[in-house]
Amino acid sequence: MTQLSKAIFVGCIDPRYQVAFHEFLVRRDLFGHHDPVQLAGGPKIFLVERSRDLALDQVHIAIYEHGVTEVYLMAHWDCLAYGGSKNFASKELERQRYEFDLADVKALILSHFPMVTIYEFIAVKDPDSFMVEFIHIQ
Ligand SMILES: [Zn+2]
Repeated sequence: MTQLSKAIFVGCIDPRYQVAFHEFLVRRDLFGHHDPVQLAGGPKIFLVERSRDLALDQVHIAIYEHGVTEVYLMAHWDCLAYGGSKNFASKELERQRYEFDLADVKALILSHFPMVTIYEFIAVKDPDSFMVEFIHIQ
C-alpha cells in the first residue's frame, strides 16, 4: 500500500492551541503527512460513548487506507471539554486527569490496532509568555 500519511494527530479544536499544534507537526515533519482528527476534547472523544465509534473509524481508515503507523494523542491544558482548569482542585489533579485519560485512550486504540505506535502529549500554554510546552507522557 502507498503510504499517504505517517501519523494521526488527535487534538482539540481549541483556537488557543492551533498555531502551536501546527508548529508541533511541522517540527516533527508531520505536517501535510498527517491525518488530523480534531474535535472538542481531542483524545477524549475516544472515551465518550457517542463519539467512540466515530473516533475508532478514523483510526481504522488512517491505518488501512492511508498507511498510518503512528498516533499522536494531544491533550491540552484548560480544555473546556473538561470544564477547563477551574473544574480541577489543583494543577496536579488536572494533569493527572489528562494522563489517566491518555492512558485509557492508548489502551483502547492498541486493543483494536496493536500495530501502531502511540505518543501521548499534554500541551501547556504559559499564560504570560503564550509559549506552549509539549509534555511527553511516557
Ligand atoms: Zn480543548
